[in-house]
Amino acid sequence: MKDTLHMNTVLVGLIGHPIKQTYSPFIHNLAFDLNKLDYFYLPFDVPASNLRNAIKGIVALGIAGFNVTIPHKVNIIQLLNNVSDEAAAVGAVNTVVNDLGKLSGYNTDVYGILKTLENYKSTITGQEVSIIGAGGGARAVIYTLIRYFKPSKINVVNRTGQKAEALKSYFSEKMKFDEIKCFELFPSNLVDTFQQSKLIVHATSVGMYTETDDTTISLDKSFSKEQVVYDLVYNPIKTKFLSIASKQGAQIINGIPTLINQASKSFELWTGETMPLENVKRSLELFIGS
Ligand code: NAP
Repeated sequence: MKDTLHMNTVLVGLIGHPIKQTYSPFIHNLAFDLNKLDYFYLPFDVPASNLRNAIKGIVALGIAGFNVTIPHKVNIIQLLNNVSDEAAAVGAVNTVVNDLGKLSGYNTDVYGILKTLENYKSTITGQEVSIIGAGGGARAVIYTLIRYFKPSKINVVNRTGQKAEALKSYFSEKMKFDEIKCFELFPSNLVDTFQQSKLIVHATSVGMYTETDDTTISLDKSFSKEQVVYDLVYNPIKTKFLSIASKQGAQIINGIPTLINQASKSFELWTGETMPLENVKRSLELFIGS
């Protein structure tokens, strides 16, 4: 890890709240070292009320780019100069490039989710799937599923029912996908809905470090061995949600593959170089295991 910063060191970072769970500084700073790039990645804890000021600060300080995480991925869009076609279609941004004060937004979560699910295409295509959550992460999941996996129907389950309804309208308009059904957490028929789903994706922040005993659902008999259950949360590696699904026989996927793959695309956007993915993956496993 870099021990000296210079006048010419290029600063990049992460804005979010909370950010104690993040492994992104480890991933990017290691990759910068491996590629011998004079870059440094810093996490900034920015609550929603400070987003606008934080962006002004980033521009004023000449920070060259940044990742965006919970809860800013949707609200950041209005503060950017440009948004890629893909990020505009998702309605969320997780990576920003600062080109001399001109901020361009991208969504590399889509690539991360695509790489994570690419071996499960036959399980998903033409089948019913469920997503828990309706924030920036859920938007990227829904976009990726509609565009690349073509499920027959998507159930969106969210604490705030209106936000799930807003996603239904959004994807109906943007992607002409009308097979979205919305649920609030938790109507009594959710067990049936989950049982009918071949893929269930958890895309809320519940269960994330430091609140690892929490879960959005703890229903008996919601999962089965015919299902793939995927949690976007990567810290802890096995959330309470994944433990419940695994005990009921489901095949589980944690958020680490998505994290590393989205990071590799952000790295490319900032540096123009390829992240040494296998090396970073091995080191992250050792780091998390330690
Ligand atoms: P976000 O835009 O802030 O959305 C948060 C979501 O969580 C909303 O659906 C919100 O519901 C729900 N939520 C928050 N607190 C809740 C609670 N106490 N009970 C029930 N629902 C609750 O966040 P995001 O960007 O989508 O991120 C969501 C999670 O996915 C985070 O843990 C993030 O780290 C993870 N993620 C991981 C990756 C990866 O690379 N592995 C990529 C993207 C996201 P309401 O609408 O009701 O507020």
